[in-house]
Amino acid sequence: MSNAKSLRCRECHREYPLAALHVCEFCFGPLEVAYDYDAIRRSVSRTTVANGPASLWRYRDFLPCDPDAAVDIGAGFTPLIHARNLGKALGLRRLYIKNDTVNPTWSFKDRVVAVASTRARELGFTRLACASTGNLANSVSAHAAAAAMEAVVFIPHDLEANKVLGSSVYGPTLVKVRGNYDAVNRLCAELAGAYGWAFVNVNVRPYYSEGSKTLGFEVAEQLGWRAPDHCVVPIASGSLFVKIRKGLDELAQAGLIDEPKTRMSGAQAAGCSPVATAWAEGSMNFRPQRPNTIAKSLAIGNPADGYYSLVQLRDTDGACASVTDDEIVAGMKLLAETEGVFAETAGGVTVASLRQLTAAGHIQPDELTVAFITGAGFKTVEPLEGALRPALEIDPTVESFQDAYRTLQPTEAVA
Ligand SMILES: *Cc1c(COP(=O)(O)O)cnc(C)c1O
Ligand SMILES: [Zn+2]
Repeated sequence: MSNAKSLRCRECHREYPLAALHVCEFCFGPLEVAYDYDAIRRSVSRTTVANGPASLWRYRDFLPCDPDAAVDIGAGFTPLIHARNLGKALGLRRLYIKNDTVNPTWSFKDRVVAVASTRARELGFTRLACASTGNLANSVSAHAAAAAMEAVVFIPHDLEANKVLGSSVYGPTLVKVRGNYDAVNRLCAELAGAYGWAFVNVNVRPYYSEGSKTLGFEVAEQLGWRAPDHCVVPIASGSLFVKIRKGLDELAQAGLIDEPKTRMSGAQAAGCSPVATAWAEGSMNFRPQRPNTIAKSLAIGNPADGYYSLVQLRDTDGACASVTDDEIVAGMKLLAETEGVFAETAGGVTVASLRQLTAAGHIQPDELTVAFITGAGFKTVEPLEGALRPALEIDPTVESFQDAYRTLQPTEAVA
């Protein structure tokens, strides 16, 4: 079964049963899964993990659901790449890329949905729903299909074409809401009360957010069981940002790594930067924003974990960048051209932020730094229009090729 023992309020620490609950009745604080760490320490070792499946279920001891009944479409255990070329371009000697673009629905959201859908099915739900900026809807639709559950997914009406297609193909009820994500989220909070469905990021959010810890677990394992010195993470609701560090802390609690001293830095788009703006102002209270950015998957103007993100930035000696849409496109291109990784706009935000934080001296050249690349580029092709080198179009003759190629590289052309 699972080592989870209760839900616990982050603020007042009151305990609740492991049900579909997400808010404390007494103080309205968010609920989080609490574990029996003695049981985890007894059951887990580096060897049990290494002998586990090549998916996030290798960390079953740290997850709040029964892994033997998992909704498993292969989420997790993605590559960690030593990014020597990108590192050289930015002046970082020990830079790694965690490439989460290669998950089953091409974003890190498969991690959170794998856990949430497994727990929802265990709790007896037959419908899986979500409020999404795009990637979550893709993943909920796919996992519901594999779990033989019904999917009802809610998205803002103006998403990229491939993010819409990437849900529709799995056959969900797809609902386009005429409003931004924050309006979608408010609607879903109301619907979760009215319908008895599992909204993965509303009423079963405590289980959902645990899935993000697995990024912390994997990075530590892939580095040879050590925590990175510095992580750079894109922030939408802030859940991923907070949970990567929780994953590292839990590994230490279970005795698998030394106590982490990892600095946690955030990445946001200037067009939706409530956390970065508060950070720059030295405030612990962010002001909600109306998003306007090409990084649609990060376009949450009123982030649920915004406050906890600011606390984590402060407590881990991190920093939070915000980057323009032009910098985001340049970041997407730089990552693709230096490392062969085609990321969506959120990946451009991370790479551009990495550049900004390094230039400002927040990241040191010798820090072992991991940049989290959380979604694949084919989902967000629109901003690349006109930004890439055009192809040479030629007749099928050597002359035609020479003529065209000479216009590019006159000195290299053959006579
Ligand atoms: C959802 C998402 C994030 C961030 O998620 P939060 O946990 O809400 O901060 C980052 N990158 C991509 C591509 C996403 O889809
Ligand atoms: Zn409480």
